[in-house]
Amino acid sequence: MSSIEQCDRCQAFCCVAPYYHPGIGFAEEKPAHHACRHLAPTHRCVQYTELHERGFPGCLDYRCHGAGPEVSAEAWAAGLEWHRLEGPPRAALLERFLERQTLYSAVAELGSLAPKAGLERELQAALRRIAALSADELAHEALTLAMELRMLCWQAQEGAE
Ligand code: SF4
Repeated sequence: MSSIEQCDRCQAFCCVAPYYHPGIGFAEEKPAHHACRHLAPTHRCVQYTELHERGFPGCLDYRCHGAGPEVSAEAWAAGLEWHRLEGPPRAALLERFLERQTLYSAVAELGSLAPKAGLERELQAALRRIAALSADELAHEALTLAMELRMLCWQAQEGAE
C-alpha cells in the first residue's frame, strides 16, 4: 500500500494480510488473508494512482517498515508465494508478514520517541537483538519483541511528557 518500502520487491502482503474496513480509511471491507479485489496478479494495485479519490487513503498511510520486502525475500528463497499456497501454509506466510510489520512499527515508534526520553541505549540494544536473530527465530519471537518494544514506547511517551 505504500510506495516507499521497495514495493517492487514485495508480494504485496499489505494488500492481502490485514483486515480493513471503511472506518479506518478504506472504501470497502476486506477480510484478513484475502486479496484486495483491486490487486492485480502482478502484485500491483490497479488503482494506485487514484487511491485518494476512490476512498482508500488507508492504503497511502500504511507503512510496512520493510517487513514486506524482507518476508518476500525469505519466501521467494524458499520457493513460496502466497497466491500459490492454500490453507495453513498460506495463513502462516501472511501472519509472518503481520508479525514482522508489528515489530518494525514498534521499532519505528520507539526510534521517534527514544531521543526525547533518553532511551537510545534501550533502542540500540533492541535493534542489536533483532539483528542477531535468524529469520526462523524472528518468526517465533517477533510478537514478544514487539510487546517489549511497546512497553518501552509507553515508557518513552511518559518520559517525553
Ligand atoms: S486498493 Fe490497491 S493499494 Fe489498497 S489494498 Fe487494494 S490493491 Fe492494495
